[in-house]
Amino acid sequence: MFRRSIYKSPAELRSMVAAGAATAAALDEARRLLAPGVTPLELDAAAERVIRGLGGIPNFQLVPGYRHTLCVSVDDDVVHGIPGDRAFRPGDIVSVDGGAEVDGWNGDAAFTVVLPDPSRPDVVAARELLSSVTEAALWRGIATLAHARHLNEVGAAIEEHVHDAGDYGILTDYVGHGIGRTMHEEPPVFNYRVDRKGPTVKPGLVVAIEPMVVAGDLETFVRDDEWTVTTADGADSAHWEHSVAVHEGGIWVLTAEDGGAAGLAPFGVVPVPFA
Ligand code: MG
Repeated sequence: MFRRSIYKSPAELRSMVAAGAATAAALDEARRLLAPGVTPLELDAAAERVIRGLGGIPNFQLVPGYRHTLCVSVDDDVVHGIPGDRAFRPGDIVSVDGGAEVDGWNGDAAFTVVLPDPSRPDVVAARELLSSVTEAALWRGIATLAHARHLNEVGAAIEEHVHDAGDYGILTDYVGHGIGRTMHEEPPVFNYRVDRKGPTVKPGLVVAIEPMVVAGDLETFVRDDEWTVTTADGADSAHWEHSVAVHEGGIWVLTAEDGGAAGLAPFGVVPVPFA
């Protein structure tokens, strides 16, 4: 059976830039709109408009059985939440995941925000810490990729970061992935330490790194809608993701408008644009 290489050519890497940019633009729009009183369906429609306006296709709609542009997961919903018409409320911790396919190439990214709620400062502070730990773990993983010999060094770094930060758990039921002609490709990208080294990190590797972190037990279940993944104990969760390319000159975060410069700065890594 023909098996596509996990390593893309320089030309193929360049072809992925537009999909990454469309993904970033759609998620920026969702983040701009996200506020109490707004519904997940409104974010979904706005993100779809951005992607189609840039000549892309919402690639989540290419997943069999899924009809939306985004997954929107609130509070104890971790990932794969279906956008609905229940408005966001003050204090919600909201994870938004989305992607675009442009010219047959894919991007995939996610962010988490906590909506302000002056009446519950402790809840908001705890949720903001959870999100910031998860985001920093993502950037630590990306920074590790810049110097790694093998891919699974990324997950070890993410795990170390999360566990050093406090009493948090990293979901093991779901992992990151290679990305290219399709949204989900080989190899798996673990968010935690595993025995195997994983593939060699070298130019042409493009991966979506996406830690899912919970402030409680790791057990999850899928809701009756058959998509939404929820913590069994009702604990809060956060999810951050970027699609990252390794190329001859270094690494470049395809789904960040600055290529990851701001996020990587604390780790002393400077992303390098494609030549
Ligand atoms: Mg993903």
